[in-house]
Amino acid sequence: MPLAAVLFIVFAFAALRMTPRQLLFAWAGITVGLAAVVSSLEVPPALPAATPLQAALSTIWVSLSLGRCALLGLYGARLRRELVQRGRELADATGRLERLAMRDALTGALNRRAIMDALDTALASVDTTGGPLAVALVDLDHFKGINDRFGHPVGDDVLRRFVTVAARSLRVSDRIGRWGGEEFLVVLPASGGSDAARAVADRLREAVATHPWTEFGEALQVTVSVGVALARPGMTPGELLARADLSLYRAKRSGRDRVCVDGGDTPSQSAVTLPAIDAPGIGGTG
Ligand code: GH3
Ligand code: MG
Ligand code: MG
Repeated sequence: MPLAAVLFIVFAFAALRMTPRQLLFAWAGITVGLAAVVSSLEVPPALPAATPLQAALSTIWVSLSLGRCALLGLYGARLRRELVQRGRELADATGRLERLAMRDALTGALNRRAIMDALDTALASVDTTGGPLAVALVDLDHFKGINDRFGHPVGDDVLRRFVTVAARSLRVSDRIGRWGGEEFLVVLPASGGSDAARAVADRLREAVATHPWTEFGEALQVTVSVGVALARPGMTPGELLARADLSLYRAKRSGRDRVCVDGGDTPSQSAVTLPAIDAPGIGGTG
């Protein structure tokens, strides 16, 4: 009977990995095998097997016990499958939550914390590799006027569309996040100096200025002012952002719809015709 005990244990564990069909075959095979062994033994086992009837009953009893093991094994296998499935669902949900926690609810851009994390990572890499990095602060021009003239919901639409248009103009390594209100921070790694950074920022500015915004309102036009700053090893995020903010201030002061680079010369401006700064409904310098 020690053999039978081992058989039970092996069968119960094997059943955890079997399909119901495999289990049925295994159970039938073992039952037939046991019947053959029990009926051919010269020294009877501990189970009553003196008469053919006793041997048959013993075999049936052992077989039913094995069956119970099999059912337990099947139950265990189902629990195991469900556990694996739940684990996968949990991992998916966690991934979704993590992605949501990084996004700005209105625009889908990275939120302030996530874009700051991206900036910290990029700055750390400037310290270790000395690689080029620039940041751009992008502010929608006269946005209060857009809200006032077309309504807050249209303002929201414009913010959402701005992110789509801006993201299309950026490179895969660039990151855009909502810094607050109608201001966005773009992290531009691998910018290769002020000219390259200016070129990326100017492409973004131009993409916004030439976008057909009239879809959201008659004669609606949107422009952005951009302040760019280049990182140097040892710079803190605060220092870099303060420089970008100063550049943005210069871009606003020199007429909006333009890019100013920290330490750079003349601001670059759009060739498209834009409404005057204090055009009715788009006024306000903020
Ligand atoms: P400037 O060209 O100097 O940047 O002028 P501005 O009007 O864009 O700047 P100001 O700071 O005066 O106004 C920003 C406006 O942005 C005011 C605020 O109501 C609006 N705003 C901020 N967040 C949101 C938002 O989530 N949705 C909408 N629709 N408007 C927003
Ligand atoms: Mg603004
Ligand atoms: Mg602003």
